Amino acid sequence: GQNSAPDYLKGLNPEQRLAVETTEGPVLVLAGAGTGKTRVLTTRIAHILATGKAFPSQILAVTFTNKAAREMKQRIGILIGEGNVEGMPWLGTFHSIGVKLLRRHAELAGLRSDFTILDTDDVVRLIKQLIQAEGLDDKRWPAKQFAQMIDGWKNKGQGPADIAEGDARSFANGKGRELYKAYQERLQTLNACDFGDLLCHPIRIFRANPDVLKDYHRRFKYILVDEYQDTNTAQYMWLRLLAQRPDAGRAATSTDLRSSEGRKPDRASAGQVAPAEASERSSHAAVSENKVNICCVGDDDQSIYGWRGAEVDNILRFDKDFPGATIIRLERNYRSTAHILGAASHLIAHNEGRFGKTLFTDRNDPEDGKVNVHAAWDSEEEARAIGETIEAYQRQKHNLNDMAILVRASFQMRAFEDRFITLGLNYRVIGGPRFYERMEIRDALAFFRVVANSGDDLAFERIVNVPKRGLGEATIRQIHDTARALRIPMLEAAGNLAESDELKPKPRAALREVAANFERWQKALETKPHTELAETILEESGYTDMWKNDRSAEAPGRLENLKELIRSMEEYESLRSFLEHVALVMDAEQNAGQDAVSIMTLHSAKGLEFETVFLPGWEEGLFPHQRALDEGGRSGLEEERRLAYVGLTRAKKNLHIWFVSNRQIHGLWQSTIPSRFLEELPESHVEIAESGNSYGGYGNPYGGGSFASGRGGRQNPYGASRFDSVGANAEKSGAFSNTYSTPGWQRAQANRTEATDRNWGTRS
Ligand code: ATP
Ligand code: MG
Repeated sequence: GQNSAPDYLKGLNPEQRLAVETTEGPVLVLAGAGTGKTRVLTTRIAHILATGKAFPSQILAVTFTNKAAREMKQRIGILIGEGNVEGMPWLGTFHSIGVKLLRRHAELAGLRSDFTILDTDDVVRLIKQLIQAEGLDDKRWPAKQFAQMIDGWKNKGQGPADIAEGDARSFANGKGRELYKAYQERLQTLNACDFGDLLCHPIRIFRANPDVLKDYHRRFKYILVDEYQDTNTAQYMWLRLLAQRPDAGRAATSTDLRSSEGRKPDRASAGQVAPAEASERSSHAAVSENKVNICCVGDDDQSIYGWRGAEVDNILRFDKDFPGATIIRLERNYRSTAHILGAASHLIAHNEGRFGKTLFTDRNDPEDGKVNVHAAWDSEEEARAIGETIEAYQRQKHNLNDMAILVRASFQMRAFEDRFITLGLNYRVIGGPRFYERMEIRDALAFFRVVANSGDDLAFERIVNVPKRGLGEATIRQIHDTARALRIPMLEAAGNLAESDELKPKPRAALREVAANFERWQKALETKPHTELAETILEESGYTDMWKNDRSAEAPGRLENLKELIRSMEEYESLRSFLEHVALVMDAEQNAGQDAVSIMTLHSAKGLEFETVFLPGWEEGLFPHQRALDEGGRSGLEEERRLAYVGLTRAKKNLHIWFVSNRQIHGLWQSTIPSRFLEELPESHVEIAESGNSYGGYGNPYGGGSFASGRGGRQNPYGASRFDSVGANAEKSGAFSNTYSTPGWQRAQANRTEATDRNWGTRS
């Protein structure tokens, strides 16, 4: 009975408890925000471990971010004692689990286990080289665009052989497929892979090596997936492979597959994933025979990665994929006040393509404030006002850790960072361009990467002439050509050239030194502690001195960053595990351990919760984002609305939404109009705050709950115009007044198409 239940089960509601205790067979928890889905997953793992159903290493648990994985581990530790959670090697993101699998079986993908994971920059540089090598104009056929195409293909689990004719033709006069193939070959020569490969290679390995797959079938007794609504096709295929339990009826198929066992993949087909999805789905029937213990949780209303290939259908099809699945709905929201929940539910109801859910809360505190909507003149004022509000909360003894600013596009962060630095307000940017992307850090990492993997030509190229050693373009080209001709790493080619008389004495001496340096450092890799080695590398290469001798204002900061880099390596066992961490960590935290406001994109806020949430920039064109509207039509708008829903439902108690009347984009001022999403919030849960008085006494300056504009003549294209009046301070200039005439706002939107940030969200 309830009383004899272990502590970790107490406090769960009956549906949550069912989801935790139904450990055998497939389970889907389909439920709205804040209903305890993640808590169910965490408790379920605790339960499986506590009842001895599996060892920690037999549980495969997928979270959406590394941060979420860390938190989950922590919470399980709290539930059942830290000692019992150790050795959960398979708790992580799809990518971090993928990299672990690939390291173990690299040779089956034609790689060595010390392969490098390339970041987006590397990938673009590499593709650019390939485009140029093809004699194509890389202005006409931008590398960045092709990198995105490849990413899209990989999200669908498609290798060069799988992509549709039309898709292959659409780039570089029909050379798309060839380029993709050349790219995969090049990666292999470099002993490298990109993010997409972290999933696609394992899929391919599993398919070609049934025994390897079978091994994992035996290993993973329980599979759990959070945020299932945002899995893409490749992730889905990967999961399906691991969740398959071939029964006797499939023996024939297994035998067929076994004949390919141990076959070494030929170069040309590396990175391909075939057969495609279709055959994956046709094997569903086999699953019902032997139930698989897979538990997925998700919310179709929070599917926000469609633009990156996520398929919300994966969640809606779960019971077909896993016949006999127990489907559990959770309806009680434990996170937010009734006002916040009411606002969010009302907003998301505007979407047509949804499953539909009920959400309620027992919270009924008359002290709970409504959702606050504020207007500001421009983004500087917005940042200033939000800064003041945060300080006011701080005076009321609220922790900065409990507050977050969630932006639609990462460019919005700059204003807040600047303002908070001025105020001396601690903040951390989560998932944005950060520490590891700074120039000096990337340089240092390039040195380390070559030491860890001498085949890492991209890293080698980055630093071969850093600090300047008088190696010109011509010499580097020569290294390149030699490497290519002999199919050897550039580092090795440089060593060869240093010993030949093909070069002039000066570059020859420089190369000899480079080669000798790396040889020495690579030897030291085995003997020296890695932090010490890292320091040595930066000193002996002359890199530290380069910045010491630099008179620019940034130089001292860069030296500090390098110190910080070395410091941060201490947490890792080896140089390689550190480099792996760097490659994976897209949700790094700054100011860790300190009280600090979090700043992040809405995309990376998924699954998180904060006492107080600020949502700036609710303007047409920014949110909903113009590009999402242009590219996705109605479904683009619906995804934006789900993103708004995610944003609103992050808040537990206080929610402040902002919009500005003018936004400066690329140095040009543009007048804006309030987001249509503001109009979609129910009046009963919203309070319009007086600008410039954003904390306390949220009185509506326009009295009587009247939302009417009071300024005749203008028309809001979205009908009701209650947010007109909030922008009253826009009368500082005439700029705002013409935005409501149709041509004006259309123009404003059109202009904005180009101007907004493409860098949304983060990678898991
Ligand atoms: P999201 O969709 O945003 O990821 P979620 O469904 O995963 O939300 P959780 O983050 O698991 O929801 O839970 C939301 C909050 O409610 C958390 O603070 C959690 O601790 C709390 N909570 C969940 N279930 C209960 C419960 N039975 N009793 C008390 N608090 C609960
Ligand atoms: Mg969650």
